[in-house]
Amino acid sequence: MSDRTPPGDTAGDGAGATGAIGATGAATVRTHCPYCALQCGTLLSREDRPGGAEVRPDPDFPVNGGGLCQKGWTAPALLTTPDRIRTPMVRDSGGTLRPTDWDTALDTVAAGLARIRAEHGADAVGVFGGGGLTNEKAYLLGKFARLALGTSQIDYNGRFCMSSAAAAGNAAFGLDRGLPFPVTDLGAAEVVLLAGANPGETMPPLMRHLGAARLIVIDPRRTPTAARAALHLQPRPGTDLALALGLMHVLVVEGHTDRTYVDQRTRGFDAAWKRAASWWPERVEKVTGVPVSDMREAVRMLADARRAYVLTGRGAEQHSKGTDTVAAFINLALALGLPGREGSGYGCLTGQGNGQGGREHGQKADQLPGYRMITDPAARAHVAGVWGVDPEAIPGPGRSAYELLSALGTDTGPRALLVFGANPVVSAPRADRVAARMASLDLLVVADFVPSETARLADVVLPVTQWAEEEGTMTNLEGRVLRRRRLLDPPPGARSDLAVLHALATRLGDLPERYPVEPRAVFEELGRASRGGGADYSGISYDRLDAGEALHWPCPRTPEGEAAH
Ligand code: SF4
Repeated sequence: MSDRTPPGDTAGDGAGATGAIGATGAATVRTHCPYCALQCGTLLSREDRPGGAEVRPDPDFPVNGGGLCQKGWTAPALLTTPDRIRTPMVRDSGGTLRPTDWDTALDTVAAGLARIRAEHGADAVGVFGGGGLTNEKAYLLGKFARLALGTSQIDYNGRFCMSSAAAAGNAAFGLDRGLPFPVTDLGAAEVVLLAGANPGETMPPLMRHLGAARLIVIDPRRTPTAARAALHLQPRPGTDLALALGLMHVLVVEGHTDRTYVDQRTRGFDAAWKRAASWWPERVEKVTGVPVSDMREAVRMLADARRAYVLTGRGAEQHSKGTDTVAAFINLALALGLPGREGSGYGCLTGQGNGQGGREHGQKADQLPGYRMITDPAARAHVAGVWGVDPEAIPGPGRSAYELLSALGTDTGPRALLVFGANPVVSAPRADRVAARMASLDLLVVADFVPSETARLADVVLPVTQWAEEEGTMTNLEGRVLRRRRLLDPPPGARSDLAVLHALATRLGDLPERYPVEPRAVFEELGRASRGGGADYSGISYDRLDAGEALHWPCPRTPEGEAAH
C-alpha cells in the first residue's frame, strides 16, 4: 500500500469542495474515507457515470495532509460493485433468497420478531452492530434494541478488535480512548515506540507524522514499519507481555523511573514493579528472543528523549493476555512520566472506521450513550429522561459479542438476530462455529450492501446505503468528531440504516418520533444523551462541524452566554 499524492494534484486545491449538508447535486463534497480509524479527509467528486465518484485526498485535513492509502483511493469503486444489493430479499419456503419489496420484507421481519418475543421473551432477539457504523447509527441501534425490542442482547464487532486496550485504558486512566492527542503532535516526537502496530502498511498517511522520530518497533515480523525503525525488537509470537515487563524491569533497575511523576501522578507503582521484577532481561531474552542489549537500547532511547510516545496496536492486544500486555506498556509509559507531559504520551491506534465513536454511544452490551455504564442508576435515569421512558424500561447488561454469538439458537440464547454493519461469519473468532450458530436461528436479518457471507445465511436481507450516499458523523482515533457528507443518491432500492430502524420500530408498535431518520436529528439527541458522560458530545453540532471547527470530545455544551467548549 502507498501513501501518495496523485500526479497533478495541487496542494491546497480544494476548489469546488463544499461542506454543505445535503450536498446531493454538488459536484464535490468534503468528506472522509470510510475505512480505518485515521478517517483521512477526502474530496469526493461526481464521475460521469451512474453512481460513480472520484476521490482525492483533502490537502487541508491535518491527519492525512494530502495523502491516502490504496484503500482510500479505491473506496468509491465499491459503491458501484456489480453485486450491490438493490432490493430486499426474503428466503422462500424452498430455502432460496428471493427479491421482494420493502413493505413485504419489513413486515416479514416485524412479524417474525413479534412472534419470537411473544414465545420466548424480549431477550430472544439479539442485535449485532459494527465499528464502521456512524455515531448516529450506533446510537439509534442501541436505542432500538433497548426500547423497540426491549432486549439486553446487543453488542458489536469491536469486541474482537481492541477490547483489551479498552480494559487496560479504563484501568489505568478511567477512560477508553484511542489517542488523547491529535496525531500532528507526533510530528515533534524524538522517539516513538510502536508495540504491535504496523501503520506503514495499515494506515500509511500516519507515517508522515512519524518522519522526524526515531522509531522503536516491536513486531515479530519485519514489516514496512519495522523496516523504517531505528530499532526493531522481534519477539517470538505470543511473548509481547514478557518483553513489555522486561523493558519495565530494565527501566527501573537502570534508574530511568521518573520518580517525581510516579509519586505525584500515579498509584500502584509497587504492584507494577512486583510483576516486572521477576522478568530480568536475560530471562526475557530466553523467552522472547530479543537480545538484552536491544532492550537496554530501547529503554535508553525512550528515557533520553525529551518528547516520546508509547503507542500500542492490535498486535499487543490480541492475545489471551492482551489486557495485561497493554497494561504493561501503559505502565512503561507511566514509569517514564510520558502521559500528560507536553509533547509526550501514551496512545492506542484504533482500527475500524468508527472504532472510537462506534463504542461510545450504546451498541455495547454494558453501556449507554456517552460511555455511561448501563448498571449505573444515574446513567440510566439520565438516558431514560432523554428517551422519554421510565429507567426501568431500559434492560440491564447483556452478553458481550463472543458470548452473544455463542448463545445463538441455544435454549437460553437469542432465537433471532439482526446484524447491522458487520459480517461476523468472517470476522468473528471461531467463524465456522458462528456460522453454525446462525444457521440454528429462527430468524436472521442482515442489513448490508453486498451479499456478504453473513447475508447469504439470512432469512431477510435489507439493502442499505453506503458512506458516499449518506450524512452522518464519525469519530476518528484522535477522538475528533468528523462529518461524513453525501455526494450521491443511493441506488434505487437501498435505504439508510436509520430508515430501516424507524420502519421496524414503528411496525413493532413503538412511537415513530422516537426513531428519527434524519442524521442531524439523531446527532442532536445523541448529544443530549451523552451529556455529562465520559464521551460528552453535547457541545458538538453539525453547524459547528460544517463551519470547520476541530472538535474533540469531551465537548460539553456550555451555558447560554458562555464561550463554546
Ligand atoms: S489510512 Fe485509513 S482512512 Fe486513510 S485512506 Fe487508508 S484506509 Fe482510508
